[in-house]
Amino acid sequence: ATSSDEKAAALSTTPSDSPTIFDKIISKEIPSNIVYEDEKALAFRDISPQAPTHIIIIPKVKDGLTRLSNAEERHVEILGHLLYIAKLVAKQESLDNGFRIVINDGPLGCQSVYHLHVHLLGGRQMNWPPG
Ligand code: 5GP
Repeated sequence: ATSSDEKAAALSTTPSDSPTIFDKIISKEIPSNIVYEDEKALAFRDISPQAPTHIIIIPKVKDGLTRLSNAEERHVEILGHLLYIAKLVAKQESLDNGFRIVINDGPLGCQSVYHLHVHLLGGRQMNWPPG
């Protein structure tokens, strides 16, 4: 998929609390390339990688955390956990010279899956500002 496909997907998705494709990835109903798993979180390779390493890190229990803008005080621990896993996976992927963490929120942020997730991107020079 091109970046404009990603944008089109994001703009055609209505934000909601309904189950998403990520629930089926968590239950292993649909296959994914899992790179890290613990009792609270799962990390797997993005199906449409935007960099040589592109990994998605998600909470196993959504608990209303469809998007970062819906975060509540009770989510602070899992939010920190996801970032810590990003660091562990970056190390595992040998991204020793740096990487990029992204959380897309809502239509303007190009979010297409309403189950909060952290993108870990690496293996190439990133640009700033992002598109
Ligand atoms: P968002 O645009 O919501 O921040 O990111 C959603 C990401 O999930 C996209 O990068 C997209 O490629 C990825 N994705 C969507 N469906 C699947 C899937 O079925 N499997 C995997 N591995 N990644 C997916």
